[in-house]
Amino acid sequence: MFYATNRVALVAAFCVITDSRVADAPDLDSGRSISMNWRNRSACFGVNPELFFPDGSTGRALLQIEEAKAVCRQCEVIETCLKWAMESGQDAGVWGGLSEEERRALKRRTRVRRAS
Ligand code: SF4
Repeated sequence: MFYATNRVALVAAFCVITDSRVADAPDLDSGRSISMNWRNRSACFGVNPELFFPDGSTGRALLQIEEAKAVCRQCEVIETCLKWAMESGQDAGVWGGLSEEERRALKRRTRVRRAS
């Protein structure tokens, strides 16, 4: 039940973030404001936000993740979206063409690269 409630909050947050009427969003690490103008050109604008937040990571959810990533592949701001998702700590859902597991792996690789 907690997951379902949390998921509703995530989908609502996605709607706010992809709503071009919202000018900026806070960077969770620095507290600075991040320009969100790139959202005006997003391929997911007008797409059901539920698509980007599959319930789990197996079975039907895997198909949903691939459907969301297919939208991202058509998106001209995919790199900006991914950078924003990584920097603002978006841990759930599909952002910038990557699933949450893929973003976690990318974060780990980046940390290892910076440490060496
Ligand atoms: S990369 Fe995907 S989630 Fe990000 S703005 Fe584009 S379509 Fe939306």
